Amino acid sequence: MIKKLINLFKNSLTLKLLTPMVALSFIVLYSTVAIVHKQYKTSFNQILKTRKIEIEEYIKKEIEDEKSKLMNISKTLSHNPEIINIYKEDKRERFKLLSIIQILESDKNLKIHFHKYPGFSYFRSWVPDDYGEDLRKFRRSISILYERKRPLFILENGRYSWSLRCLYPIFVNGKIAGSVEAFYNIKDVILTPIEKIFNVKAALITRKPETEKKLFIQYETLSNKYIAIFSKQEDELIRDLKKLRKFDFDDFLITKSSAYFSIPIESIEKKNSAFLIIGIHYKRIENLFYSTFYKYASFEIIIILLGLLIYYISIKRSIISPLRKIDKNIKEISLTGNLKNKTLKVSSRDELGRAIETFNKLVLRTSELFEFKETIEEDSSTEDVFKRIEYLLKNKFGIKTYSIYLVKNSQDKMNIISSQKDKMWCSREILLNSSLCRAKRIGKIVDSKEDFPGICPYFRGGDLYHLCVPIYFQESVGAILQIVYKKEEADFIKKNKPLLLNYIKEAAPVLEAKQLMKSLKESVMRDPLTGIYNRRFLEEFEEHISGQADRDKIKFGVLMIDLDHFKRVNDRFGHDVGDFVLTEIVDVFHNTIRRLDMVFRYGGEEFLIILNNVKAKENAVKVAEKIRENVEKHEFKKMSIRIPQITISIGVSVFPDDSEDFWESVKKADIALYRAKETGRNKVIAFDSSMEEQKGD
Ligand code: GH3
Ligand code: MG
Ligand code: MG
Repeated sequence: MIKKLINLFKNSLTLKLLTPMVALSFIVLYSTVAIVHKQYKTSFNQILKTRKIEIEEYIKKEIEDEKSKLMNISKTLSHNPEIINIYKEDKRERFKLLSIIQILESDKNLKIHFHKYPGFSYFRSWVPDDYGEDLRKFRRSISILYERKRPLFILENGRYSWSLRCLYPIFVNGKIAGSVEAFYNIKDVILTPIEKIFNVKAALITRKPETEKKLFIQYETLSNKYIAIFSKQEDELIRDLKKLRKFDFDDFLITKSSAYFSIPIESIEKKNSAFLIIGIHYKRIENLFYSTFYKYASFEIIIILLGLLIYYISIKRSIISPLRKIDKNIKEISLTGNLKNKTLKVSSRDELGRAIETFNKLVLRTSELFEFKETIEEDSSTEDVFKRIEYLLKNKFGIKTYSIYLVKNSQDKMNIISSQKDKMWCSREILLNSSLCRAKRIGKIVDSKEDFPGICPYFRGGDLYHLCVPIYFQESVGAILQIVYKKEEADFIKKNKPLLLNYIKEAAPVLEAKQLMKSLKESVMRDPLTGIYNRRFLEEFEEHISGQADRDKIKFGVLMIDLDHFKRVNDRFGHDVGDFVLTEIVDVFHNTIRRLDMVFRYGGEEFLIILNNVKAKENAVKVAEKIRENVEKHEFKKMSIRIPQITISIGVSVFPDDSEDFWESVKKADIALYRAKETGRNKVIAFDSSMEEQKGD
């Protein structure tokens, strides 16, 4: 579970960014609540104390009031002559007829009771009772009164209620005859009124009455010592009180829902045996906590929540969403390789905005690079690719002064292949000896600005700098890109060098492949022994010849050449010498013919020479004769071996005079060659149509 949570946290930037803010908000909120709570507690205590004093004062005053009221009533009654007379004559049924009692009965709470010495119930104003009921066992106040013979005010329980009672002695002829008692049930005059007035719960707690007699008083037993009287049943109050051991607690007793305080009341029982317990329900303190909280913290809470929301939205918009988009695009790119429409909107200038900018640059550059590579891969030749690089230099990089050298490795030579052939920045010597070029020789980038000026002595650009980049084909330098730049362009070149080198890096394998293809094709087309083109090349070249004949109306001399008795050379001097003869004879051919004429090795010791643009067959025959003569005259010498005279036979035809079809013309030259062999060798014979007929014989 915790691990999961940690992982969740590790994997979510939102959580990482949000958590400290939430924590901070929580701390702020917590301290606010703490302050509010303190504030609330102070106010709460204050209110409780005030309320307590108010209630205490009210009760004190109320008891005083009741006392004086009851005193007055009982005094009046005890001095009433009619009442004294009733006692004198012992006619208690007359009480009911007394107008004074009827008047007093208008006070619903007031109860009047007459007793007869030494302690019997004589008359009750509420439920008339039989004469002679003994009160002495449970009404201690009456005994005290008869002993002291003075009026008495006290809280005492009776069969009917716990009441505030005032007792007055009644004297007949100077002797105590009985007493009058006026009383109020404490429930009616104290408990109920304060509950109503102060909106509290109230209970009277007393020690259990000492008398064992079963009383009719309705009460709740709290413990084996205490009982409680309520104005109405208050379950919560009873529950709370039942938990208490004693009731004379100081200050306040705080429970979950209420605060209680205790007021001792003097009663007939021992001292500290009766208490009024007042419970103030928190709810009834005008929802104090909520109101203080509302007053002090609600604004903060709203601000904090709003702040958190704004913070969340802003990190989501400015950080999380862009990061998600970058992630999504990178994933898509890596999956599909497609870089189109993968750039993102830059909506801020902060670190992330700059990162998106860099990302966009990367996407654009890479896609340009990809496009470049794709394009050059589809180009047909090395030359086309170099042209594309030139275009790039001029149009993308704005570089106007440059050269591209292609190395002919077999000959250790180079030639310029860029379009700016007329302007060469290096000494021409390097074209004949490519190893003079520093970049070619060391195979590393040469930058006269970065290295030091004059690093390459063959550079002829004076004050200008040169950046020479070797391009590798098959582990050796196949080409050199030279960029020539002015002092003031140095920064620009330095800045763009990495990108430029990237392009070159992308182009190099393509160039290499194309170059390889070219040389492969060459090797198939060329005879490895003599280095001249073979019959396969002729097959491709034929289209060019036919096309030219057709288009430009020119004629070609076709010379089919075969060495005479060549077998004998091989037999006598060995194959190597034979090979040597074949190579050297090609030189003889080349030295005899013009540059535009072409020599092909047609078979083993058979050669075909195409004479370009001949006027007529005689001209072709003349050239053939010259070739034959030169061969005949040539001395073939290999080391110390002197090879006897070599001769050749040549058959001549003219294309398209002898046949409109090139290969047919070749065949006709062959027929003529056959005739030359037949008729003695070392001779030139031109084809004529009679030969065909003869051959057919
Ligand atoms: P002729 O043409 O005059 O009738 O006689 P010939 O001896 O030249 O006869 P033929 O054309 O039958 O023989 C061709 C010889 O050329 C056979 C072969 O040994 C030799 N030859 C062909 N190709 C090569 C080659 O590449 N190197 C060498 N050394 N000899 C070759
Ligand atoms: Mg032959
Ligand atoms: Mg031969």
